[in-house]
Order: sequence, then structure tokens, then C-alpha cells
Amino acid sequence: MKMEAFTVDNIPLIKKGDNIAGMICRNAEIRNNDIVVIASTIVAKAEGRMFRLEDIEAKEEARRIADEHRADPRLIQAVLDRSCEVLMDFPILLVETKNGHVCIKAGIDGSNVEKGYLADLPEDPDASAAGIGKAVEQISGKNVSVIVTDTNGRAFKIGQTGIAIGLYRIHPIKNWIGKKDLFGNTLEITQESVADEIAGTANLLMGEGDGGNPVVIVRGLEMRSEKDTSVKEMYRPDKEDLIKKGLRSLRHN
Ligand code: GDP
Ligand code: MN
Ligand code: MN
Ligand code: MN
Repeated sequence: MKMEAFTVDNIPLIKKGDNIAGMICRNAEIRNNDIVVIASTIVAKAEGRMFRLEDIEAKEEARRIADEHRADPRLIQAVLDRSCEVLMDFPILLVETKNGHVCIKAGIDGSNVEKGYLADLPEDPDASAAGIGKAVEQISGKNVSVIVTDTNGRAFKIGQTGIAIGLYRIHPIKNWIGKKDLFGNTLEITQESVADEIAGTANLLMGEGDGGNPVVIVRGLEMRSEKDTSVKEMYRPDKEDLIKKGLRSLRHN
């Protein structure tokens, strides 16, 4: 078996209004079933989701949390404004965003962003992925999938990895339940998070610094879905989430 992953070169610094799909198609020869993996930072820039702390006024709760962190209260206010729930406020500010993505500081990111500005995550990363995916399909005449990624930490392990935060036409989970292992045993629980695996693979080529490689094409995996899919398929239902339950009980005791 074989798969390929390669960067799409010659992507400039992205500005509000830039046509990312057009840039991808000008700089890569797209094939059917290509998975186009895009760093959320450039999607946010193209969507104009940059903001300045100067424009934010911190309220009471943000000031309290900021004191503990010795952080700028306006940054904490920005995080709270984008969150539907705070799961932990210290020593890390772990929140669930309005899209259901659990991450540190609502994904607000100052890396690879012009000085004085911060980048938000895309407001609706599935919609961003679909918009770019459909435009790539229209320009190239090929059927593709898209994964919008961000860099996130994981519980229990040191180090961050690329993960999926928005999808277009790729099933994020490969269900092995009911399949056989090498010894004929039936698999009972394994659901492989293929969207995160592909995001992590692409992130190896993107890096985190000044590489200037926000777009990677993964080729050779036949994973395109004929129907629209959503990153929300990856989020564990609230009631079944034991980690969230534990964090809530710590906060409220
Ligand atoms: P994030 O994981 O979405 O927060 O994105 P990163 O800040 O880690 O950047 C991922 C990759 O995209 C790195 O190689 C950056 O150098 C690159 N990158 C970020 N913004 C731009 C941009 O506007 N233009 C180009 N060409 N590369 C960018
Ligand atoms: Mn960044
Ligand atoms: Mn980021
Ligand atoms: Mn990154």
C-alpha cells in the first residue's frame, strides 16, 4: 500500500478576501479523491477573522481568570466570548467553543499572524472546508475532500499534533466494530479517527513556524464521501464524555 503527501507551494501571506481555492488550483494539479488539508490559520485570515486586543473590554470573570494566569484580561475576555463552556480555568484555560471543539483558549492564535493581531478559528470550519472544497472541484473538475486543521495538544501526552476541526466530504471515523482481526476475533470497540490521522500527517509537512506551508495534499487514500460530512461526527456526545464529566465535577466542588 502507498500514499503520498506533498505541500502546495507558492502560497503567499494570506489576506482577508483571498481566494484560497484558486491559489491551490493554480499551484497543484488536483486529482480525484485528493484530500486537501488546510491550516485553519490561513482560512481565518482569508475570512478576515483577525482581531486586536485594543478593541476588547474585559469584564469581571475575565479579569479574575487573567489575574491567576498573569495574562492580558482582554485575551481572556476574547476566549470567553467564543466559548459555550469553561471546562478548566487554571492552570490552563480549556473551553468548548460554540462549534463544540474543546481546546485551549478557544484556538485563538498569535503564531504566523501579523504583529498586534490575533487569529480566531474559522467561525464554522465545516462551512469553510465545504466552501473551499466546492470551489476546488469547480475549478479543477475533480472530486476532492477537505480537512481544515489546527494544532492541538492531547490529554496525557506531551506535544501537539495537527487535528481536524472542519471537514468536507470525508468520513472522519473509520468503524472497525464487527470486523475481524488476524485471528478471527470480532473487533468490539475500535473506531479509527482517520481525519485526525490525516491532519497529523499533513502537519508533518506544514510544521508550526516560518515554513510557509499551510496546504498539503494527501493522495492515494480512497476516502471521499459522496455526502457532506461534519467534524461534529467526531465529538463524543456530552452525556458519554467521562473526561468532561470529571472536569465539571472538579469545577463545581
Ligand atoms: P495552525 O496550526 O492553523 O495554527 O497554523 P500554523 O500557525 O501552525 O501554520 C501552519 C503552516 O502554515 C506553517 O508552515 C506556517 O508557516 C504556514 N502559514 C501560516 N500562515 C500563512 C500564510 O499566510 N501564508 C503562507 N504561505 N503560509 C502560512
Ligand atoms: Mn498558528
Ligand atoms: Mn492554531
Ligand atoms: Mn500549527
